Amino acid sequence: MKDMKKIVALILIALVVMPIAAGCGSSKSKSDKKYKIATETAFPPFDFTDSSGKFGGIDIEMLDAIAKDQGFEYELQKIGFDAALLAVQTGQADGVIAGMSITDERKKKFDFSTSYYEAEVTLAVAAGSDIKSLEDLNGKKVAVKTATNGADYAKSIADQYGFTVVEFSDSPTMYQDVITGNTAACFEDYPVMAYNVKNGAKMEIPEGMTAAGCPYGFAVAKDKNEELMTKFNKGLENIKASGKFQEIIDKYTK
Ligand code: GLN
Repeated sequence: MKDMKKIVALILIALVVMPIAAGCGSSKSKSDKKYKIATETAFPPFDFTDSSGKFGGIDIEMLDAIAKDQGFEYELQKIGFDAALLAVQTGQADGVIAGMSITDERKKKFDFSTSYYEAEVTLAVAAGSDIKSLEDLNGKKVAVKTATNGADYAKSIADQYGFTVVEFSDSPTMYQDVITGNTAACFEDYPVMAYNVKNGAKMEIPEGMTAAGCPYGFAVAKDKNEELMTKFNKGLENIKASGKFQEIIDKYTK
């Protein structure tokens, strides 16, 4: 009788517990959390809409490959650089992937992944411009993009070279201002500027005008999202080992 009760109890437990346990399997936990990842609007070859209207780039394809490797889901928030950093800091987004440089100042507010791309900052001018050096900027207006490494660099040398800094919220608007001659030059990440010039932007990069920048990393709010950061780093390591990472870089840089 006692045994019978035990068996019945075990069957009941099995019936109740098993479906719950099954529900905790990998397929469920996958869809449990959909990370919100904030990114740029136009920062080729990292984050941009290509000529066929598809949003992609190194950052976007890398994130997707990492998410597949680690089995997590995400949704992109295409909101621009400054807004992306704010979204992560205010908890509206879980992470930011936007050609974001790993600076010491930012490390106070963000945790960064392993770096994935080296990028210097460069001066860029309108095609055919007389401006060839920093000295030529004396008395001129120079364009930068808000909250970027390039903006910080420009501000740090503005007094020394006698130019005024004008801020823009996105790169295409900033280039347009330089092309139309409102501002004499802009500061931008070298790989981004080079990609734009190669693809028809009416601008040029004066010789020897690059300054050291910082490598790019994926970022989350400081101490707030270790889980996502761990997955990102593991995934990045895996796609580097498999050759997928290099395939993505080559696709956009060759
Ligand atoms: N790499 C630069 C920075 O982090 C610019 C990034 C961007 O404009 N998306 O400041």
